[in-house]
Amino acid sequence: MKFYVKEVLDKIADKAIVVAATKYFTSSEMRTLYGEGISNFGENRVESILQKMEDLQDLDITWHLIGTLQTKKAKKVIDKISYLHSLDTIKLAHEINNRRTSPLKCFVQVNISNEESKHGLEVDDIIPFLEELKQFPMINVIGFMGMASYTVDMEEIGSQFQKLQDLKSYVNKVTDYKVSDLSIGMSNDYLVALEHDSTFLRLGSVLFKKEV
Ligand SMILES: *Cc1c(COP(=O)(O)O)cnc(C)c1O
Repeated sequence: MKFYVKEVLDKIADKAIVVAATKYFTSSEMRTLYGEGISNFGENRVESILQKMEDLQDLDITWHLIGTLQTKKAKKVIDKISYLHSLDTIKLAHEINNRRTSPLKCFVQVNISNEESKHGLEVDDIIPFLEELKQFPMINVIGFMGMASYTVDMEEIGSQFQKLQDLKSYVNKVTDYKVSDLSIGMSNDYLVALEHDSTFLRLGSVLFKKEV
């Protein structure tokens, strides 16, 4: 596997935090990525994150969960991570609140692409959802996460990201929440995301190529 971490980090120039999507990597490949300057890692699956945490416990890693988290699997992992990017049900918030010993930084996931397959709440449902979350002291909403459509149409992607920028300003205006972060941008669209105030980029395939 050949890595392109330096090239990517140069383009980002500290404008956002890179969270490497670990589903592509073994623990030893993650060790290489760490050596090249990545210390935030985001896993999708509870089983894998636990194994990787154990393998890499000697490193100073900030752990994120970036994929859909089933409530019944949450308890094993929820007190071991620093960020959750995919909060989208009250049931999960309830579970987190019961299991955490300190507030968990959460992104509320929003469906910005209007694709059925994508998870997340509709924009119109966000304000009531945030109101309901207020009953949970262990949920610290820091912003919104969204996944744009997979397309070469960068204007379309930009308009989908813009929805989250607008949502963020709206929430800061009409509620007493103060949210500052956006988890937007993947390999296909991270440069667009940077133009839309992304603070966390979740990157996988752009970081490496398989050698043949
Ligand atoms: C895999 C994954 C990513 C990164 O995907 P790339 O397109 O390879 O950069 C980002 N977010 C989530 C939730 C993922 O599952």
